[in-house]
Amino acid sequence: MCGIVGYIGPKNSVPILLEGLQRLEYRGYDSAGIALIADHKLVVHKKAGKVAELVRMVNGNGHGLTAHLGIGHTRWATHGEPNDLNAHPHWDCHKEIAIIHNGIIENYVTLRTKLVLDGHIIRTKTDTEILVHLIEEMYKRANDLFTAVRLALLEVEGAYGILVVSTKEPDRIIAARKGSPLLIGIGERENLVASDAAAVVDHTRQVVYLEDGEVACITANSYVTKTIHDKEIIKEVEEITFDLQQIEKGGFEHFMLKEIHEQPESIRNSLRGRLLMPEGVVKLGGLEPVLDKLYSAERIIIMACGTSWHAGLAGKFMLEQLARIPVEVDYASEFRYRNPVIKPNDVAIVISQSGETADTQAALREAKSKGAVVIGVVNVVGSTIARGTDAGVYIHAGPEIGVASTKAFTSQIAVLSLITLLLARHRGLAEEQCRLLAADLMSLPDKVEKVLGESDHIKYLAGEFKHVQNFLYLGRGSNFPTALEGALKLKEISYIHAEGYPAAEMKHGPIALIDENMPVVFIVPKDAIYEKVLSNMQEVRARRGKIIAVANEDDHEIDQLADHVIRVPRTYSYFGPIVNSIPLQLLAYYMAVARGCNVDQPRNLAKSVTVE
Ligand code: GLU
Repeated sequence: MCGIVGYIGPKNSVPILLEGLQRLEYRGYDSAGIALIADHKLVVHKKAGKVAELVRMVNGNGHGLTAHLGIGHTRWATHGEPNDLNAHPHWDCHKEIAIIHNGIIENYVTLRTKLVLDGHIIRTKTDTEILVHLIEEMYKRANDLFTAVRLALLEVEGAYGILVVSTKEPDRIIAARKGSPLLIGIGERENLVASDAAAVVDHTRQVVYLEDGEVACITANSYVTKTIHDKEIIKEVEEITFDLQQIEKGGFEHFMLKEIHEQPESIRNSLRGRLLMPEGVVKLGGLEPVLDKLYSAERIIIMACGTSWHAGLAGKFMLEQLARIPVEVDYASEFRYRNPVIKPNDVAIVISQSGETADTQAALREAKSKGAVVIGVVNVVGSTIARGTDAGVYIHAGPEIGVASTKAFTSQIAVLSLITLLLARHRGLAEEQCRLLAADLMSLPDKVEKVLGESDHIKYLAGEFKHVQNFLYLGRGSNFPTALEGALKLKEISYIHAEGYPAAEMKHGPIALIDENMPVVFIVPKDAIYEKVLSNMQEVRARRGKIIAVANEDDHEIDQLADHVIRVPRTYSYFGPIVNSIPLQLLAYYMAVARGCNVDQPRNLAKSVTVE
């Protein structure tokens, strides 16, 4: 999920790697490290915290440290706390092979069990270290690093961008990718390899992009690329034409837009390895310590703030509908001062992207002090909330830089969907139903991808509505939280006043606001209450309000009622907020851009709200 850089050539790799890592800092990370091969020895320096600390460490420890081959990494932890030990690079039993890795190895538990039986000593909590021991094992058979890496990867499930080096073959770096980007930077008698172009542009603009399922052997003067199944492939050299700023944002104008577009991948990462298909069985290792408590819970209390609170509301809908367990969703800031009633069989879930939200921390403490078991749904591994809970499920959305949360929101709901399926199955939901729900969950990344294809249309709509002062968002059932989140996104970044309501509540007050100047966004998928929402649309239309409908692709009735229709694929209503919030994120984004607002750093807001 984070940064990779490697160098091989006549120069000293140390400053090149350290500067490369600094170039990758913008991505967000929690620790950094380098591995060098010098005099047939593996030298590793790694440290939790900023690259600057690693630089201090390298300069302090190894004056005049020189190596013509090296790899460097910034880690964004997914498995194991962000401490010095878990930082990359990792090495094998004999400190001969080193690896750096971006991504998640799904089957690392199975692999670890096998490797430990084979006598390997595993030192860290990471999924990554398993991979280097697997390569060590394969090296015994192949006696060739390129082949050993390939053979190891045949046994791996998951996502990776990796670099591997060995003291036995000190003239090469092996690189491989699946689901995590890597490119080779082609230089004069030197080559680089990195997870994004930012780390190589100071040295070369000629690059070769690796594709999923490809492995490369890179020396100072050459590179060979193969498929993981040993078929050689000839790659095209491309020229980077972007400037550094464009590279950092992945070619998008803002981090927020980049993160909106990352959602097919971030949702995939949230589900990765946790939903065993086709049976639809959910495995959440992080919940194991509290599974009994969770299974016998009589009530769930969800506590969160802002966007995470909206994800909690979406969670309530699915948990109640599918697992038939009562759920309360509380603002963390209110919960803490309410002297809440907690019963012995209550389980609390706290949701926070950063894991540092002060109000949520306080709610967590309050729930614990009253005897509740507390589960965390958090993005940042090792954060205060993650450490303070009894158990938890990381959402694995990757670092989120835009202040207005997008991919963390959809990943939070994806994780709540997994918790729901786990509980629902235990509480008697039919196996066949679980299978169907699981299949739908797995299809969400593709559905989200499809909605992203509506971007131009949504941009056009933003141009039409950019001058309005107010917006209303209406939805029912699981899409009431979608409406709230749509309104919040618009407020946060475009500074337009917006309200979200359950559609049927409109007639109890907000209807007074409707006239020809009031745009109303309806989230109206073809679900059980579709017809009811159509009646609400009629009410808006009768008062000449402007209707933007987020509706299903096969819904033609809607064209009669709405002024504008944004099409979304059908999905089970429980997971609807994941698909249906995408166009609302895009609408908020393009409105903010059209109004000249600072999208990534909206006024008065902070990414991680660590004050009360
Ligand atoms: N899963 C690996 C870890 O937790 C890699 C994390 C990353 O992509 O930075 O160490």
